[in-house]
Amino acid sequence: MMNNCSDLTQKYYRDGKLPHIWCPGCGHGILLNALVRAIDNLGLDKDNVCVVSGIGCSSRATGYIDFNTLHTTHGRAIAYATGVKHANPDMTVIVVTGDGDCSAIGGNHLIHACRRNIDITTICFNNNIYGMTGGQFSPTTPTGDFATTAPHGNVDRTFDLCSLAQGAGATYVGRATAYHATQLTTLIENGIKNKGFSFIEGISVCPTNYGRKNKKGDSVKMLTYLKDNCIDKKIADKKPELVENKIIIGELYNNPSPEYTECYKTIIDKFQD
Ligand code: SF4
Repeated sequence: MMNNCSDLTQKYYRDGKLPHIWCPGCGHGILLNALVRAIDNLGLDKDNVCVVSGIGCSSRATGYIDFNTLHTTHGRAIAYATGVKHANPDMTVIVVTGDGDCSAIGGNHLIHACRRNIDITTICFNNNIYGMTGGQFSPTTPTGDFATTAPHGNVDRTFDLCSLAQGAGATYVGRATAYHATQLTTLIENGIKNKGFSFIEGISVCPTNYGRKNKKGDSVKMLTYLKDNCIDKKIADKKPELVENKIIIGELYNNPSPEYTECYKTIIDKFQD
């Protein structure tokens, strides 16, 4: 039976760390709760879970949750997580990162973790902006949108993070949004179960530093936009005429392949015989 919020709070959140300091209406709390529900649904041993974050609004998550946690340096969450997983291959290792953290300064770590197929589940809280530092544009800020560093409109083209992860070698890739929290929970569960590198994009809403600058309205309006403008991959595959200008969500890629720490162990075993 699914636990209610208060059970989950008592079980998985740190005493004395709440209330959180995300802005009112921020989508990040919904995304974090999806992660906690996924861990609970899988019945994982808390002491055998390590959650690693970088720097940014998303990365505050590790302060609130009662697992082994590491709040690391900017862009380096996946690098730290790689070390944790390599030293403790039986541990469930999860990264919580933001769009700037994982695809700008940390982009190199992302693509090589994908390429290696190391057994880490990375959840990117994508709010399309650098929220914590005041609203600079990130690699996922839509072209033409405004940011403090793009007062006349962003001219950069944007990354499709899921395509990037798949192209670099991630073996499980999914996307959902703060509106589609139940689906996000399922994707995170599947990502954790995948023995390899899983990349889950959770599209968030940042009414403060992205929404305000781009006249997107309040949090409810931004969540309603996500409700009305996403299409599940299963429907998109059957009805491609419905896809134009829509965000495709759901399980985007699932192709198990040999995992890095297991491959490495075969080398270690060879020289220990
Ligand atoms: S700045 Fe944006 S992403 Fe950061 S806590 Fe506020 S609403 Fe959330």
